[in-house]
Amino acid sequence: MNTVKLSDRLAAVASFVEEGAVLADIGSDHAYLPCYLVHAHKIERAIAGEVVKGPFESAVKNVKREGLDDHITVRLANGLSAIKEHDQVDTVTIAGMGGPLIATILQEGKDKLFSVKRIITQPNIHASSIRQWAMENGWKIVNEQILKEDGKIYEIIVLEKGKSVYDDLEIAVGPFLLQQRSDTFLEKWNREVLEWQRVLQSLEHAAETEEIRLKKDHLSKRIQLIGKVLSD
Ligand code: SAM
Repeated sequence: MNTVKLSDRLAAVASFVEEGAVLADIGSDHAYLPCYLVHAHKIERAIAGEVVKGPFESAVKNVKREGLDDHITVRLANGLSAIKEHDQVDTVTIAGMGGPLIATILQEGKDKLFSVKRIITQPNIHASSIRQWAMENGWKIVNEQILKEDGKIYEIIVLEKGKSVYDDLEIAVGPFLLQQRSDTFLEKWNREVLEWQRVLQSLEHAAETEEIRLKKDHLSKRIQLIGKVLSD
């Protein structure tokens, strides 16, 4: 029985999974993504990894209810330790977490990426951590997408193995997204810059401690960097 209907956000993540991929979905929660992909006949096999018992049990229940036990293995595991060598996973998805947590999962599980050709990430915040991790660890960005759902803006970053060099602006906003300059992209960065300007203004009235000075300096630099995108 196919009862899985994905959010636009997860459907966008799914669209970057290649036909016939062997998938590890890390932080799978209800295992909606692998269930959807198997039902859609896009993939045959997947691992659903989950570190918290409640979501792990939901994933087990859903996979059973969908009749997909022969296709999806659910494992209670931290990060990429859900992947075993014999799985021959070639694609990893990590969606719906903060960018720094995703980067930590990739960093701590680097030795599990032996057979992996493609990593698809959907950070809720601080996507820059993933771009930075990619550049420092022999991965390059091959595609990006930005989308808005229920008033929230999400970024998707797709990585494949290869050398990459990105400048500060590309790390901050994404090389592909920068080229595309979509309305959603401009909305996101307009919102961010307005918020930074508001915080900076409120700090003008604060006592000038070293901490405040550093914060003001950081905010001014961010506004200047991202301002370039908005003024072009
Ligand atoms: N991936 C799904 C999505 O995008 O809709 C679920 C996102 S949910 C907000 C994040 C899930 O990641 C939670 O179920 C959480 O328990 C799990 N998680 C967080 N850290 C993890 C880790 N180190 N290893 C595996 N799962 C993790």
